[in-house]
Amino acid sequence: MLLFCIELTLKIKTMDFKPANKIQDLQFFGEFGGVNPSISDSSTYTFLAAKSMMDTFEGNEGGCYLYSRHSSPSNLFLGQAIAAMEGTESANVAASGMGAITCTLMQLCNAGDHIVSSRTIYGGSYAFLKNFAPKFGITTSFVDITSLEKIEAAITKKTKVIYCESVSNPLLEFADIKALSAMAKKHQLKLVVDNTFSPLQLTPAILGADIVIHSLTKFINGSSDTVGGVICGTTDFINSLRDVHDGASMLLGPVMDSLRSASILKNMRTLHLRMKKHSENALYLAEKFQADGLKIIYPGLKNHPQHELMKEQYNEEFGFGGMLSFDAGSLKKADDLMELMQQRNLGNLAVSLGFYKTLFNAPGTGTSSEIPLDEQAEMGLTEGLIRFSIGLDNDIKRTYQEMKKCMLELGIL
Ligand code: PLP
Repeated sequence: MLLFCIELTLKIKTMDFKPANKIQDLQFFGEFGGVNPSISDSSTYTFLAAKSMMDTFEGNEGGCYLYSRHSSPSNLFLGQAIAAMEGTESANVAASGMGAITCTLMQLCNAGDHIVSSRTIYGGSYAFLKNFAPKFGITTSFVDITSLEKIEAAITKKTKVIYCESVSNPLLEFADIKALSAMAKKHQLKLVVDNTFSPLQLTPAILGADIVIHSLTKFINGSSDTVGGVICGTTDFINSLRDVHDGASMLLGPVMDSLRSASILKNMRTLHLRMKKHSENALYLAEKFQADGLKIIYPGLKNHPQHELMKEQYNEEFGFGGMLSFDAGSLKKADDLMELMQQRNLGNLAVSLGFYKTLFNAPGTGTSSEIPLDEQAEMGLTEGLIRFSIGLDNDIKRTYQEMKKCMLELGIL
């Protein structure tokens, strides 16, 4: 009965949650009544009384700013907007997605602790868990995130965290966030979800995740002009990250500059429009190329293994996202195709994602090259795989025709 009630409450909460409205309803005014908040152009802040400075160091802040590595008005505005979008109490922005991921995991784990992580994650996150975290006595088991049995079997007495991406990089597997959250609760673990590939489309905290991370470098900023990251969670957790004595964000120091956070906040105002267009264009190309006989990986296609599951948990109006992958047959064919598409101005051969223009790279030798080849093979990451971040093309039918010509010329179709 209890489980049924929890499930029902979660369902209602999920249906009612409108992440884009949450961003839109936030009103921040500038110092002189400006329609955008003023940018805090200071690294340090004055105190009128010495006692208030001491109180701030002791954590009894009373609304004072101390030093911009700790917090700044501009970073707090951006954090508030992203927390509203993700349905969490609070958020802390970081200088990069990796700054957000590493601070979160270092804050949650001590020497001797263990993490169960999806094996299909961004190459940098994989390299951190595999090669860097063990220097501090934190070990990780990498598992197939689509197998709840394998995840549960990997949990030990030392496990503290289940880590995954909501839609994985680059194989676009959807993690069953509701089921992972139930498992995390059962074993008293924290579920940490990197939601970089699916802002607005998925709201992991509403589905039960404890902490949600983004690389802001990608869709949220959307203009490929900066790196940035964010950690969303409870106020207690966010405050712990900023603690002057033992907070990972405060002490490791990946702080975002105020000018950058102000510009990311402005770009967030169009995120809902951009995400709908990215999804619409990606679905169009996925369906067309699948009909042409290519083996397309896209969660919006009915033959994607987690299509139905994602449909149960996503925010429908934003679709299945702007990322799609397919195997060109060999690394040579993948390279030839990417070079030809770039020559014909159909996109850029570049890492990263979420730009107005289509971006593509072969992750086996690019964004996932940190993962050893035998492990790539085991997880199904073939060398000819191309990962596309589909752009905001106004005339996607023309793009399709032009891409198809390239594929025909190279014998891929
Ligand atoms: N998470 C995912 C899913 C990514 O694709 C990336 C970068 O490509 C990151 C995290 C790291 O973000 P950043 O490059 O902003 O440090």
